[in-house]
Amino acid sequence: MSKEKTIEIPEVITIRDLAEIMEISPIDIIKQLMNLGIMANINQQVDFETAAIVGAEMDFDIQLEKPFVPEEKEAAPKTLRQYLYDDQDPQNLEPRPPVVTVLGHVDHGKTKLLDAIRNTNVQEGEAGGITQRIGAYQISVNNKKITFVDTPGHKAFTAMRARGAQVTDLAILVIAADDGVMPQTREAIDHVRAAQVPMIIALNKMDLPTARPEQIKQQLADLDLLVDDWGGEVICVQVSAKMRTNIEELLENILLVAELEELKANPNCQAVGTVIEGQLNRSRGVLATLLVQNGTLHQGDILLIGETYGRVRAMHDDKGQRVKQAPPSFPVVVMGLPTVPTAGDIFEVVNDEQSARTIAEERTAERERRETKPRPRLSLEDIYERFQAGEIKELNVILKADIQGTLEPIVDSLEQLGNEDLKINILRRDTGNITESDIMLASASQAIIVGFDVSVDPTARKTAIAERVDIRLYNIIYKLIEDMDKALKGLLEPEFQDLIIGHAQVRAVFRISRVGRVAGLYVTDGIANRNAQVRVHRGDKILFDGKLSSLKRFTEDVKEVRTGFECGATVEGFNNFKEGDILEFYQKEQVS
Ligand code: GDP
Repeated sequence: MSKEKTIEIPEVITIRDLAEIMEISPIDIIKQLMNLGIMANINQQVDFETAAIVGAEMDFDIQLEKPFVPEEKEAAPKTLRQYLYDDQDPQNLEPRPPVVTVLGHVDHGKTKLLDAIRNTNVQEGEAGGITQRIGAYQISVNNKKITFVDTPGHKAFTAMRARGAQVTDLAILVIAADDGVMPQTREAIDHVRAAQVPMIIALNKMDLPTARPEQIKQQLADLDLLVDDWGGEVICVQVSAKMRTNIEELLENILLVAELEELKANPNCQAVGTVIEGQLNRSRGVLATLLVQNGTLHQGDILLIGETYGRVRAMHDDKGQRVKQAPPSFPVVVMGLPTVPTAGDIFEVVNDEQSARTIAEERTAERERRETKPRPRLSLEDIYERFQAGEIKELNVILKADIQGTLEPIVDSLEQLGNEDLKINILRRDTGNITESDIMLASASQAIIVGFDVSVDPTARKTAIAERVDIRLYNIIYKLIEDMDKALKGLLEPEFQDLIIGHAQVRAVFRISRVGRVAGLYVTDGIANRNAQVRVHRGDKILFDGKLSSLKRFTEDVKEVRTGFECGATVEGFNNFKEGDILEFYQKEQVS
């Protein structure tokens, strides 16, 4: 006779679990065990052999579960950091120019400053020539080179960081001296701090009579940014992009700060770097501005970018000149790619077209696998695990509160949590609702967002879902601190609440020989669900809280029964039904 059903169990199993897997009442198993001379209760464990014998008696083919082999960890794509710093023999490294990004509030003069820097530096003979915007340019000061990323603003900066690219070695924070620290100035500061790159402040528009630099230095001091002439460490240069005053001094300071960073790369290997910009040009096809970060890129190289690849047919520098090679920190426009790459994508040179195709195909397959199995976001519950796995070193938090007065005590308490190894690092503290900019900062910096008595802007909510950013909202300070404390200790359990999904009334009680007492039910509201939790109410007493062991319509097992229908049910571990009892069906829903 063929077996009815094949199930798999571990080497040892409790009768309760065995019954669950077999989808029968534990009572039946206990009875079978009694036939074998074994007296057992529902919580008792039986070994595989015994379970197999019991199963065979009941027409089950019981197999030993295959040992659990953890799924092979998805091979994480190599990060740029690994490309740049792993396996690099220090002997092969040579100094490279710094890559500088200009950040600041809108209209404070970022574009004008980038233009001023570029034009101040136009070499004799080039004057009046070609100023193509390709997204980055390189200049020379005192025979030393500096590369500027020419897409000002932290949107590009953040988007790149969110994609895992870090191109910036140094940030220039532009503040208009007549306007002072504005919201985007503060955002930019947060981003630079999160990216852990040094910063130079350019106090711009000093030509204006309304410029008030000392007041702005005070505003900066209030944000823990003490400028050099106030005894601090942050270099601050007063410039006018319009009049081109003090630009040289700014550039010299960039070189000074960069020197301390000892930036190096190996110019004698295959190139890797980041896509700064991509566009489709009607006459020239796909144009991609690439910033080489290690190695040297040559005309004719095979370039692999994400899931696409192509041969470098031609390269141009930022002055529109054809070049045959691009060393570290050198931005070039490349022709020859089949599709337009995205800013922030990492590129690398591979040996031949065949390897490029193989890797590109693997990446496509991997992306498709990932898309069917969405990557878990960083959530408060798994911080500790991620920390233990060495994936994070601190809990990055963006804190938003309704008023300044509540922000401070929360920050004070949060800063005291954790221990030497795992601490909270507050990337941004601010008043007001949670905005898209908060989400982007969180996404770029692997942070979670904590809101106190604030709400989430609708667009921010959408972005948070897309970027899989965890947002926690609180209205009790104590609860907020407690959750953070637990998260750092790995003790934060997801919070559940009961969601009642339906009620049914016991209309009759049947005694069925093999099964025991079965409740004849009528679903009065909602649904009765086979897999739900169930509470048995009698008057105002709860007699039992547990799980169903069967749910049937006539003789057939069913998953659920809707309002107005009758059904029969047995409850695991309870059979003392009486007419008039109410069964309440509910599910545990995660609330946090
Ligand atoms: P961005 O939004 O930060 O890129 O700002 P822009 O570079 O577009 O400059 C905004 C406005 O400020 C423009 O009208 C500029 O001409 C003006 N501006 C920029 N720098 C200076 C400066 O040094 N002095 C004065 N007076 N105006 C400036």
